[in-house]
Amino acid sequence: MRLSRYYIPTLKESPAEAEVISHKILLRAGMIRKLTSGIYNYLPMGLRSLNKVAQIVREEMDSAGAIEVLMPTVQPGDLWKESGRWEFYGRELLRFKDRHDRDYCLGPTHEEVITDLVRGEVRSYKQLPLNLYQIQTKFRDEVRPRFGLMRGREFVMKDAYSFDKDEAGAEESYRLMYEAYKRIFQRIGLKFRAVRADSGAIGGSFSHEFMVLAETGEDTIAVCQNESCGYAANLEKAATMDPGGQCPAQTDVPAMEEVATPEQHTVEQVCEFLQADPSALVKTLLFDADGEPVAALVRGDRELNEVKLRNLLGANELHMATPEQVREWSGAPVGFAGPAGLKVQRLVADFELRLDQGWIAGANKGDAHVKNLHLGRDAQVEQFADLRMITPEDPCPECGGRIEFWKGIEVGHVFKLGLKYSEAMSATFLDENGKDRPMIMGCYGIGVSRIMASAIEQNNDDGGAIFPPSIAPFEVCLMALGGKDQSVVDKAEELYTQLTEAGIDVLYDDRNERPGVKFNDADLIGYPMQLVLGGKGLKNGIIEAKDRRTGERTELPLDDFINNFT
Ligand code: ATP
Ligand code: MG
Ligand code: MG
Ligand code: MG
Repeated sequence: MRLSRYYIPTLKESPAEAEVISHKILLRAGMIRKLTSGIYNYLPMGLRSLNKVAQIVREEMDSAGAIEVLMPTVQPGDLWKESGRWEFYGRELLRFKDRHDRDYCLGPTHEEVITDLVRGEVRSYKQLPLNLYQIQTKFRDEVRPRFGLMRGREFVMKDAYSFDKDEAGAEESYRLMYEAYKRIFQRIGLKFRAVRADSGAIGGSFSHEFMVLAETGEDTIAVCQNESCGYAANLEKAATMDPGGQCPAQTDVPAMEEVATPEQHTVEQVCEFLQADPSALVKTLLFDADGEPVAALVRGDRELNEVKLRNLLGANELHMATPEQVREWSGAPVGFAGPAGLKVQRLVADFELRLDQGWIAGANKGDAHVKNLHLGRDAQVEQFADLRMITPEDPCPECGGRIEFWKGIEVGHVFKLGLKYSEAMSATFLDENGKDRPMIMGCYGIGVSRIMASAIEQNNDDGGAIFPPSIAPFEVCLMALGGKDQSVVDKAEELYTQLTEAGIDVLYDDRNERPGVKFNDADLIGYPMQLVLGGKGLKNGIIEAKDRRTGERTELPLDDFINNFT
């Protein structure tokens, strides 16, 4: 490609709106342009890099046995009503109506669509396992779109969905994806960690996030420093056992009882509210055994939240309790709310994690609280393997080693869904005995566009980006610095033709610009290698190769250049 006929609108200054380095560089290097909040155009250089990420993902998905499809962006609301998420998804789901007044949404994820597709096609166990994936544009009306491609509203995701006939198969599908993800991030050349994304209490390995390590990451992860151990968990979820693995014995706690509490507002309403206001920071929903949300934890100023909730919901009476009240009211070593038969471990763990951090409990369905739950008496202690957030002073919950906290960017997420969607949407198959059974599902996401930004977060210097060769817009930038010296131009033309014919991914900066401009642009965009031909070099029969990462310059003989280069 010739730069004189290409389109790379680089900028001298970074636009004021850009806070993090990847955002600044992507804008300055002319790779992306903002259309509106969280929505970007990919310019030619940005698109090349994006396509390279997508291609690596695609190759590794294919070799892991997943099969590519392409699903629509626009999804019928009816499917989301069937799965139950129409109400629960909150405001990240952009809903709208068509001319017939029917509900639709822009897909933030595709569990509903894929489950609908597969239930219509797969009848027998002989058609399983099946893993379908796509690379496609997602829309999430993020409450706080920011950092450019890192948290957009419209972004490119690879999402895969596996369908299995039994647990062993589902675990194997999960393992295959986990391994494929490791290969993807290795091939791209990112420093990453796979971390546990669940509390560890539901079996430990049903959900992992892949974190690119970078200071600007929005997540904090706890990582064991003992290399043979390998424990790593998202701090949001990382919790540790009380010393001795037991909860403090409380013999004088009265019997557990269910108590009626006044009807408040629904969880759906609270979710809606939480999504609407970032300062509330409501992230944790409590689910019952069927996966239905029953309560939400709200953080922030109590009075303010109460007023906001009241306005928002038009509710007259709200139940808002402080952590102390919850503790006192539940009478247990840890407090929790919700109907009996809850997925208690999750609930208790979450509560314990939040109580010390000024979380406020509220928003129950009413008539449904449990008082005086006593661990070890009313619920099995094993269920509560993790009760408390890890601090850097804690020993590693797995090996007793030292824990460190790192910052990370979530670039991938593998998740065992189980029967959640197949049961709600009747995606069943006939097993070996002719019995109708729901398929066991898994879902696996990768942030394709977010990877581009994370690669820059991890690889940059004052001059600009230092792209890993695997996803650089071009691997080599050839520059002729001869000024009016026609012999330099002629030689550069010849080299460009040779490089192109040899299949090298080369951009030729043939612009009539000063050397400084060319150098700055090349550093900013971050091609892994620059080839610089000057008048003096030509006379001496050499061309200079600069390694963008190390800055190291090597003189290569022009004689038989192409054969030595490749
Ligand atoms: P986050 O915690 O950052 O909001 P998520 O857990 O909501 O991400 P998933 O539902 O797990 O995201 O989606 C799969 C992947 O899609 C994520 O691991 C991430 O790489 C990417 N992704 C999610 N939201 C965004 C976004 N707003 N912009 C860019 N990429 C995103
Ligand atoms: Mg999210
Ligand atoms: Mg996440
Ligand atoms: Mg995730």
